[in-house]
Amino acid sequence: MDLCWRREMEGKLAHDYLSSAKSHHGKMTSAHSPHRISVVTGPVIVGAGPSGLATAACLKEKGITSVLLERSNCIASLWQLKTYDRLHLHLPKQFCELPLIPFPDHFPTYPTKQQFIEYLEDYAKRFDIRPEFGQTVESAEFDENLGMWRVKSVGEEGTTEYVCRWLVAATGENAEPVVPRFEGMEKFEATGVVKHTSHYKSGRDFAGKRVLVVGCGNSGMEVCLDLCNFDAQPSLVVRDAVHVLPREMLGTSTFGLSMLLLKWLPIRLVDRFLLAVSRFILGDTTLLGLNRPRLGPLELKNRTGKTPVLDVGTLAKIKTGDIKVCSGIRKLKQHEVEFDNGITEIFDAIILATGYKSNVPSWLKENKMFSKKDGFPIQEFPEGWRGESGLYAVGFTKRGIFGASMDAKKIAQDIFECSRKSYQAHRHIQVLCMPRKTGQSYSRLLE
Ligand SMILES: Cc1cc2nc3c(=O)[nH]c(=O)nc-3n(C[C@H](O)[C@H](O)[C@H](O)COP(=O)(O)OP(=O)(O)OC[C@H]3O[C@@H](n4cnc5c(N)ncnc54)[C@H](O)[C@@H]3O)c2cc1C
Repeated sequence: MDLCWRREMEGKLAHDYLSSAKSHHGKMTSAHSPHRISVVTGPVIVGAGPSGLATAACLKEKGITSVLLERSNCIASLWQLKTYDRLHLHLPKQFCELPLIPFPDHFPTYPTKQQFIEYLEDYAKRFDIRPEFGQTVESAEFDENLGMWRVKSVGEEGTTEYVCRWLVAATGENAEPVVPRFEGMEKFEATGVVKHTSHYKSGRDFAGKRVLVVGCGNSGMEVCLDLCNFDAQPSLVVRDAVHVLPREMLGTSTFGLSMLLLKWLPIRLVDRFLLAVSRFILGDTTLLGLNRPRLGPLELKNRTGKTPVLDVGTLAKIKTGDIKVCSGIRKLKQHEVEFDNGITEIFDAIILATGYKSNVPSWLKENKMFSKKDGFPIQEFPEGWRGESGLYAVGFTKRGIFGASMDAKKIAQDIFECSRKSYQAHRHIQVLCMPRKTGQSYSRLLE
């Protein structure tokens, strides 16, 4: 059936592109542009990070082959190319597994970045997932006439247009770094280094240097610790209130314990418990310049997506004065930073731990499912995974890899049911249309 369907689509497309010349494997090449057209019978998935891989694997398990487009030259490019050396999973491994394959038993509770990448490489191999690398999706639009998505990607060989029934956005919550501009930034850059954490690898590069880390999320806190370990002198800009929790409490992971308690207790009660135990273990963080938000850590996460910091040793270094806490930045000068409280200090480098943003609005031409403002699904979790006309989102739940795995399973099941229904509908039509006297077997027509 897929072959018949593909031929029909190619026929329709040939009308659209009058000068099209058909090449092999369903690809058509226009005589006047470097534009190639590829008619895809399964879904097109944009992004080969953990979310895209999980979706491709769940589909494969149901016998559906997808096309996976990835802008970089490897899977999980965020992990392979844009994270620092000392990174471990922030959450225990059982909350970071992709569907169908658990982490190896010998992996520690918090696998290293390298172990996580190994797991993902192995995962892709096990399901024979082979992304098309070096393909940056620049636009995707639903063609009402065709009833199909048209996905345009640009690679070394020019532009390719993929035509498909289902489109899965898996470009991630962290697709592009957020780089704030400060007054006088160019003056500081003329004398010192300014880099986003996506370019930071190790404190080794900053030994003996005065480094200002901007942003006090998990990455900013951990980068400070890393700088300390390599004899740099880090200072941390803390502008907003932040919840810092110990990574472990009562002999188990704070995250795991929270999930368990939430099964029985209301969120506010769990928050109160977490804050009481944190105060007992870490002390009063406000005395260190780290004010806590008004809402509890889990309620804040639920309402705004803001993740609490799970402390891996940074707080102890703040207590000993190895890491200094500073107020917000007012402006930058040559070699210097002026803070909101009027104090000016000398720095050699600034590391921006200012997070990332989704890039969906830059390539997806659609206005019902994704918000143009932040590039996240408009419908809140757990509803945001499915849009209209065969459009899906995986990995936009603000719940890390755990949330992505949930999405991937639901998407694969939905596409499977949808393709089964359309198969049955086509089958019915073809059986009705079959001339009675032909000796052809039904099965050949239903190919
Ligand atoms: C430092 C750090 C630590 C983290 N630790 C954890 C943790 O311990 N546990 C956890 O659950 N989560 C963690 N996260 C969150 C983590 O980002 C995600 O859970 C996970 O990487 C999300 O996978 P993803 O596939 O959705 O997105 P990504 O990993 O960002 O993958 C998206 C892919 O899409 C590609 N892409 C983007 N735009 C295009 C385009 N236009 N065309 C083609 N390809 C495109 C990108 O190149 C990328 O390879 C961490 C994040 C960071 C930054």
